[in-house]
Amino acid sequence: MPPNLPFQNFFMSNDKNTPAPGNAPSSNFVRAIVESDLAAGTHQRDGLPPVITRFPPEPNGYLHIGHAKSICLNFGLARDYAGLCHLRFDDTNPEKEDQEYVDTIMDSVKWLGFSWEREGQEHLYYASDYFEQLYKMAEYLIEKGHAYVDSQSAEDMAKNRGNFGTPGTNSPFRDRPAAESLQLFRDMRAGKYKDGEHILRAKMSEDAMASPVMTNRDPALYRIRHAHHHRTGDAWCIYPMYDYTHPISDAIENITHSLCTLEFQDHRPFYDWLVETLAEGGFFNKPVPRQYEFARLNLTYVVTSKRKLRALVDDGTVTGWDDPRMPTIVGLRRRGYTPESIQLFCERIGVSKADGWIDMSTLEGALRDDLDPKAPRAIAVLRPLKLIVDNFPEGESVECSSPVHPHHPELGKRTFPFTRELWIEQEDFMETPTKGYFRFTPPVGDQPGSRVRLKYGYVVECTGYDKDADGNVIAVHVKYFEDSKSGTPGADNYKVKGNITWVSAASALEAEVRLYDRLFLDPQPDAGGKDFKSVLNPNALETVTAYLEPGMKDAVADQRFQFERHGYFVADRVDSQPGKPVFNRVTTLKDSWGK
Ligand code: ATP
Ligand code: MG
Repeated sequence: MPPNLPFQNFFMSNDKNTPAPGNAPSSNFVRAIVESDLAAGTHQRDGLPPVITRFPPEPNGYLHIGHAKSICLNFGLARDYAGLCHLRFDDTNPEKEDQEYVDTIMDSVKWLGFSWEREGQEHLYYASDYFEQLYKMAEYLIEKGHAYVDSQSAEDMAKNRGNFGTPGTNSPFRDRPAAESLQLFRDMRAGKYKDGEHILRAKMSEDAMASPVMTNRDPALYRIRHAHHHRTGDAWCIYPMYDYTHPISDAIENITHSLCTLEFQDHRPFYDWLVETLAEGGFFNKPVPRQYEFARLNLTYVVTSKRKLRALVDDGTVTGWDDPRMPTIVGLRRRGYTPESIQLFCERIGVSKADGWIDMSTLEGALRDDLDPKAPRAIAVLRPLKLIVDNFPEGESVECSSPVHPHHPELGKRTFPFTRELWIEQEDFMETPTKGYFRFTPPVGDQPGSRVRLKYGYVVECTGYDKDADGNVIAVHVKYFEDSKSGTPGADNYKVKGNITWVSAASALEAEVRLYDRLFLDPQPDAGGKDFKSVLNPNALETVTAYLEPGMKDAVADQRFQFERHGYFVADRVDSQPGKPVFNRVTTLKDSWGK
């Protein structure tokens, strides 16, 4: 909540929206605009909140991390300024859209912690519900000479558009009488023409075809598409264009601040012209909505174009839209990201007018900062090597324990047994140690082997090791010191440099662990038209059979842990079975990329 605002007391934005974690959101240019509009009373209207934003996805794919930025911005403004944010499906493209996408988009927005409900009312809208209104407004524009039916071929239309620096040429149909355009438009609706035969275009001004802004050159308003729509079925064979639909939908819904990405800057003159013209015609009340542009999110090591994401799914590079390597919301969720970490990330990257790249480590950092204080700890051995405690009796066990969370003693302790045979990480033994290596090293001549502490257990000394016929180390032998158990009097008398994680071989849970990494090796996989598939990271997924401390058998889907020294892991929401979780690595403990 920003300070010193007069309406602070009637704070009741979208009821269910969870507040962003951490401190109050940092300010940005959009907030500054909203605050000045609030102070000036720009959008004061009876019975309506002073700030109404919208998130307008096209239901033609899954939401990704770029959309999360827009969601956090739009819903965040509503939350922080006693406003309201609509979820609106921009569904004017019948061929590409589907109910499947509508459903997953709703799920993803909710999962991110936002709601389009306010005071018990849902604010879920579909542009397709406005088709009749949009049509009526188009007839009005034709009658007023603000639009005409163009019957040029697609080639002529493209040719006559001119280009940057070259003015366009008026269509020979531009000055046909309004009555003729109106009849043609009605016949287009009635299905008398084939796709592409005619098109409805705006005429913003007499010399619009010479405008230096290409999008002002008689933009298309309607095209003929004999296609089935996922909501309106076969009711329509003409469909409104995005540039026409969007401003009108905003105005119908009383949107105050219509936020979009920078590439729509050039579309703003048309946006303003359209809503002003229609407001003059009595279709909307003033003030009309205003469009503001912000920089889209470009995140390194991912692609966010829906077309490219779809290509990865279709050719089997990933297992689906929810593959944990995908930057989709469903992918990030399955990977183990929390909604709070994504909100935190969006707070941190802020909102500006300057395009740039955000490094993947910023997203991973937000995740670590979110999970560190709340993820229970556990021990996992990902690349197991047998450790045999030769002087520990076979078949016996001693209970060891450690805190569930080092900073939250109230969460209690977890216990696990110490037994004669344990699993340690392969990298914790070196036959010929390098300088400064403080883990297991064997005795050499009359030099004893190294002494290390088995974390939360005993101090042990390396006494030897076994190799198989190929020369691979297959077991390490140690002796333990009975009076060295962690937490018992005298344990501190043993001074050792190494502190090694382990699990008991007798009771460990064997589990599949998926070590995910970035999907691309190149920080900007598709920049400059690069072939993003040529820079795939071949090691983006490594699957290991790991040994986990026994309590992990109770892990349930979506439960997150910090596996000590390895990173953050989540029980996979798709493949985990009761008693048999499968884990995904969300991220490592530290940013080790490129180091
Ligand atoms: P694509 O071009 O890959 O199909 P899109 O941007 O057209 O994606 P929409 O469903 O139209 O996808 O997007 C819905 C909203 O999300 C829009 O308001 C758009 O500006 C915003 N958005 C999409 N991608 C990003 C991004 N990378 N950063 C910020 N906002 C984004
Ligand atoms: Mg779009």
